[in-house]
Amino acid sequence: MLMSGGAKAIEALLPGALEHWAEAGAAKIPLPSGVVSYTPGGWHRQWPAAHYLIACSRDLLDQHVRDIVLADPRIRLLDKTGVRALTGSAQRVTGVRVASREGLEWCIDADLVIDASGRDSNTVNWLAALGITGIRERHIASTLVYASRTYQAPARNNGAPLVQIATAPHTPGPRQTGTLIPIERGRWQVSLAGTGSGAPSEAKDAFVPFALQLPHPMIGQLIARAAPLTDVQVSDATGSSRRYFEDARHWPEGLVVLGDATATYNPLYGQGMSVAALHARALFHTLARMQLHAPGTARTAQKAIARLTEAAWSLSTSQDALYPHAANAAPSLADRAKGRYLNRLSQAAATSAQAAATLTQVTALEASPARLLKPSMLLAAGLGRWRRPLAYPPLTDAQRAVVNFADHPEP
Ligand SMILES: Cc1cc2nc3c(=O)[nH]c(=O)nc-3n(C[C@H](O)[C@H](O)[C@H](O)COP(=O)(O)OP(=O)(O)OC[C@H]3O[C@@H](n4cnc5c(N)ncnc54)[C@H](O)[C@@H]3O)c2cc1C
Repeated sequence: MLMSGGAKAIEALLPGALEHWAEAGAAKIPLPSGVVSYTPGGWHRQWPAAHYLIACSRDLLDQHVRDIVLADPRIRLLDKTGVRALTGSAQRVTGVRVASREGLEWCIDADLVIDASGRDSNTVNWLAALGITGIRERHIASTLVYASRTYQAPARNNGAPLVQIATAPHTPGPRQTGTLIPIERGRWQVSLAGTGSGAPSEAKDAFVPFALQLPHPMIGQLIARAAPLTDVQVSDATGSSRRYFEDARHWPEGLVVLGDATATYNPLYGQGMSVAALHARALFHTLARMQLHAPGTARTAQKAIARLTEAAWSLSTSQDALYPHAANAAPSLADRAKGRYLNRLSQAAATSAQAAATLTQVTALEASPARLLKPSMLLAAGLGRWRRPLAYPPLTDAQRAVVNFADHPEP
C-alpha cells in the first residue's frame, strides 16, 4: 500500500502516475473511512475521509513508474548492471564504477550520484574507501515475521473493504496482525505478521488457521473461501535501521542518498515507499533552488531528506515501542514516552473525529508528526477514549453484502 503523502509526491514528479495506476485497477481507498479495523475490545469507529492509500500489487505500482520514467528520452537504463564503487574524492564524488553480469567493469562520470539502492546499500563502505568514515548507524532488530499470500477473491466477495485485525498494545503474548487489501483484478493481498513464538510460517496449510486465530477471525473466514494464487512469501527483513549521513562531519559534493538506503522501517506501517518518494521530491525542490555544482547543494539535499526520514522514523519507532518484546533492543525512554502518547491518541481517535483526522494526516505522511503536539491533540490524548468501540464492524450496506458478515458471528 502506498500512502497518499507518497502517492502525491510521485504524482508531482511523474504526472500521470495516479491515472495509470487507477486504469490498471489500483484502488484509491479513503482513510480512515475505507479501513475496517479491529483490536480486542471492538471495531474502530469510522470518520469522514480526508486522505487515502493506493492499494495494488507492488508490480503494478513499479511497472507504471518505470514506464513513465523510461518514456523520457533523457533517461537510459543499464540493465543487469550494478554499481561497485564511487569514483572521485572525499571532496567531490564524480561518478560510479559499474560492472555487468558478464564481469565487464567501467566508470560512468556524473554531476550528481543518487544512491537509491535500498536497504543493502553499500554507500557507507564506498564512502570509507574515499576517506569519509564515522557515519553513525542505528539498527533495531525485530522478531517480527511477515508472511504474505495473494488470493483470487470469490466473485461474491468482490468489493470487500480493506480489513485490519491486530492484537492490542501492551497485551501479554506475541504481537500479531492481519491485513487483507483488495488489489487489482479482484484479488486480495493478505499479510499476516507475528513476533517471536507467534510468528507465521511459510507452510501453505498454516496460513488460513493463523488468520482465523487472530483476535477476530474475519480475514481467515474470507480467505478460507478464496483461491490462493501464490505460495506464502515470508520476510524477516522487518527491523528498522538508519544511517545518519546528514551528521557526517564532512560530506562530498555530488552525492545524495535516499530511500531505504538512508533508513528502513517496520513494514507493518507501510511507509517505506512513501518516504522514498518524499525524499525524491525533496531532492527535486533542492535542485530547483540551488545550482547543481554550487558548494553545499548535496549536503542541503541530504539534510532535507533527513528531516523527512526523522518524521517517519520517529512515528515508526514510537509505535514499535508499544510492543517492547518485539524488538531485540529495549526502546529508548523517549521512544517509550512517544509510544504511550501515540497510544492515547489512537484511543482518542476511536471517539474523536478531529483526533482521527490529524492522526490519519500524519500516518498518511501528509503532515509532520509535530502536528500531533498541537493543543487540541494534547487535550484529546488527555481525554483518551470516552466511548466504547463498536460491537460490529462499521461496514456500508454494500460492504456488508460482500463480506456477508451475517455468516460470521462475533467470536
Ligand atoms: C515485507 C515488506 C513489506 C513492505 N510493505 C510496504 C508497503 O506496503 N508500503 C510501503 O510503502 N513500503 C513497504 N515496504 C518497504 C518498501 O519495500 C521499501 O521502503 C521501498 O521499496 C524502498 O524503496 P527504495 O527505492 O529505497 O529501495 P528498493 O525498493 O529496495 O530498490 C532498490 C533498487 O536498487 C537496486 N540495487 C541495489 N544495489 C544496487 C547496486 N549496487 N547497483 C545497482 N542497483 C542496485 C535493487 O536491485 C533495487 O532494484 C515493505 C518492506 C518489506 C520488507
